[in-house]
Amino acid sequence: MIFDAVIVAAGSGSRAGGAKQWRALAGKPVVRWSAEALLAAGARRLAVVVPPGEAARAEAALAGLDRWTPVDGGDTRSASVQNGLDALAADPPQAVLIHDAARPFVSSAHVSALLDALAEAEGALPALPVSDTLKRAANATVTGTAARDGLFRAQTPQAFRWAALTEAYAALPGGEEPTDDAAVVERAGGRVRLTPGDPRLMKLTYPEDFALVGALAGAARVVRTGMGLDAHRWGPGETVWLCGVPIAHDQTLIGHSDADAGLHAITDAVLGAIGAGDIGDHFPPTDPQWKGAPSDLFLRRAGELVAERGGRIVNVDVTLVCERPKIKPHREAMRARVAEILGLSVYAVSVKATTTEGMGFPGRQEGLAAQAIATVELPA
Ligand code: MG
Repeated sequence: MIFDAVIVAAGSGSRAGGAKQWRALAGKPVVRWSAEALLAAGARRLAVVVPPGEAARAEAALAGLDRWTPVDGGDTRSASVQNGLDALAADPPQAVLIHDAARPFVSSAHVSALLDALAEAEGALPALPVSDTLKRAANATVTGTAARDGLFRAQTPQAFRWAALTEAYAALPGGEEPTDDAAVVERAGGRVRLTPGDPRLMKLTYPEDFALVGALAGAARVVRTGMGLDAHRWGPGETVWLCGVPIAHDQTLIGHSDADAGLHAITDAVLGAIGAGDIGDHFPPTDPQWKGAPSDLFLRRAGELVAERGGRIVNVDVTLVCERPKIKPHREAMRARVAEILGLSVYAVSVKATTTEGMGFPGRQEGLAAQAIATVELPA
């Protein structure tokens, strides 16, 4: 199902002691957590609704992310949501998610459950049963105990069939201010399903919430690994490229590109960690534009794909398998070059080498093999 998302980040955040959407949470602006997670969950594009005049702050907070557009907020939350919907209306999706930027830890699992629920409803929202006893009180004195049966706490993102939400908003009488978007669809007679809520979808409301939510930040990321294997045949030549470094040698590796098996193995490992196919999918060997291409192009693109998913590479490790040339004298240059290509610290890059003691194709010096592993961290 094609879905877009509106991220409502238009609040002045008076209760949170300032505009919380721009504040850093575990090293990243609050609004970026949601934007990365919704893009990673498959959103086609995002309308990010910000206070009028603050588009530049959104540009800074979301630098490097594609497929989003800033939208000026309105006087009320519902006006802001409608501005976001208007920004998407020219090319409407099948479904739209409305999400509060102040709930940073949305995951792909939340989004899948919501989209599934739309099969039998016009809207869906994650909700938690009320587990605390509810007291009614005045002047800090209890006046009664309310039944909590059948009560749920509504969270976001909330998902809607596009037509159902836009028609419900069009029918909303002026002056009525709903506290969430599901209420607008309910009012129009639409069915709204509940999906499992999650304590991690808590809303940053008060300044002290930042400490609690910051402690949860690690749980909102997943770590994935990928592996890559490559081999190229030796042939006549004077220079061999390995891990982005040219080495004077009495042979070279034969291939469509520069045949840098080290960079190819690392590229496949990075692509593998994000489930993005392999190097041949992105740079087909049948395409003449990659003939003789320097392989740093391939690895740089794999790194960009990780960044586009809101992820980062934690480390890469490659082993070169050959009898000759000796790798050790070039190892630090290789680490530095791979680190440079991927924008990593050199400590996040390992280059190792082994022989096969004369056995197999590397041992017979028919070719060189390389094996790599990459670890990436991504939105959950
Ligand atoms: Mg190759």
